[in-house]
Amino acid sequence: MAIVKCPACGQRISSLAKRCPHCSTGVGSLDPADRDRLARQNWRRQADRAANATYIALAMLVGGVIWWWGDPPQGWFLPPPTAAIILLPFGLALYLVGRSWLFWLRLPRNRPPPE
Ligand SMILES: [Zn+2]
Repeated sequence: MAIVKCPACGQRISSLAKRCPHCSTGVGSLDPADRDRLARQNWRRQADRAANATYIALAMLVGGVIWWWGDPPQGWFLPPPTAAIILLPFGLALYLVGRSWLFWLRLPRNRPPPE
């Protein structure tokens, strides 16, 4: 017996399991082509989530900058308005998390099997 990754959800499961305890996919009856297809779908879903996180983060950064500049008195005055204090660091953190996640997904050992 070994610990393998569920091809559908990516969680660690027993190689003897007939059904994934995390996502209930019947992994015992899958042929290799189905396993590879599920692994590619799972990878694509995660890559989409990571990309969406970076888009939301960029919107937060742009919103924070506009808010800071547009809040009276107009310009780059200190201290920044509260909305900018919240949006800028959280946007930056979310952007870095999203990019790191994408980088990790694209490492050769984390890529799904080719079609
Ligand atoms: Zn699963």
